[in-house]
Amino acid sequence: MAEVLVLVDHVDGEVKKVALELLTLARRLGEPSAVWVGPGSEGAKGKLAEYGAAKVYVAADEELTAYVVAPKVELLAQLVADKAPAGVLVAATGEGKEIAGRLAVKLDSGVLTDVVDVADGFVGEHSIFGGGVIAHARVKRGTPIVAVRPNSVAPEIAPAAGAEEQVSVTLSDAAKTAKVVEKVVQEKGERPDLTEAAIVVSGGRGVGNAENFKLIEGLADTLGAAVGASRAATDAGWYPHQFQVGQTGKTVSPQLYIAVGISGAIQHRAGMQTSKTIIAINKDSEAPIFELVDFGVVGDLFQVAPQLTEEITKR
Ligand code: FAD
Repeated sequence: MAEVLVLVDHVDGEVKKVALELLTLARRLGEPSAVWVGPGSEGAKGKLAEYGAAKVYVAADEELTAYVVAPKVELLAQLVADKAPAGVLVAATGEGKEIAGRLAVKLDSGVLTDVVDVADGFVGEHSIFGGGVIAHARVKRGTPIVAVRPNSVAPEIAPAAGAEEQVSVTLSDAAKTAKVVEKVVQEKGERPDLTEAAIVVSGGRGVGNAENFKLIEGLADTLGAAVGASRAATDAGWYPHQFQVGQTGKTVSPQLYIAVGISGAIQHRAGMQTSKTIIAINKDSEAPIFELVDFGVVGDLFQVAPQLTEEITKR
């Protein structure tokens, strides 16, 4: 069975959930091999094996993480040349999509981005036209490079060997043009990461001001959810930009997305419409968000959200 390379996203030696999702997906396509770039893999290899990595390629050289993106691309290109995998999976994060694009150019291969599923033969299901259309596409040239949206697949345990192999690459001068000078690690709050959360509660212009976002946070906390916001809310300074969901913000695909006081503009939908279940609370029954929802509540969020929070807390 051909190998499928999975680039592992990790922070402080901890494997991010999306890597486990990619390993689960890779099992449908071939034999998953995890690719770990940078130091700190020691405590993580067990987890990668638990989720199906038959091999773990470890490129521990710190130089590979001292520069922005390009070293990872050169490493993956070399692995593709050496191992001839059936394909390469990366997370469709900002960095992952850049890696996918650059790698495809380097290998003269096709690339699929924003994929929400991949079937046998590397047929990708992906979102196009701002999320308005789901298309199926297949790479016809070279090794398929596929960037998969976080939360598209439920990670499943399937223990495998996780055999470690140290790998390295001699970086070209071109890979050393953008040096990492500082890493700002955002404090890990109590809430889950927005792009990885199983439940997201987002507030929009209807919330009215920054203070009222406590309502959204309260509802989110009763559900163990992450908080998101529309661009109207982040542009108004009511909630930080890093929590913006949409075309120019984060893409989320949780099990449950609750949109509170959000109209459902196409640019907002682009970031959340692959959520498995969508609920909206909006006082305007004609709001476009209701075209998209599984459950809708037509009502004033200042009445509905506190009642919902109270009801959930009781249970
Ligand atoms: P509105 O459209 O003003 O909707 C507010 C809603 O709240 C209304 O439906 C109203 O009925 C409801 N409401 C008001 N009061 C209450 C109440 N008391 N109770 C219940 N409901 C109430 N937007 C994004 O979100 N993310 C993006 O990434 C993004 N990128 C963009 C990129 C470009 C290039 C452009 C041009 C736009 C982008 N936008 C983005 C903006 C987008 O077009 C919309 O303007 C924005 O999503 C609207 O946010 P909203 O739904 O919160 O506000």
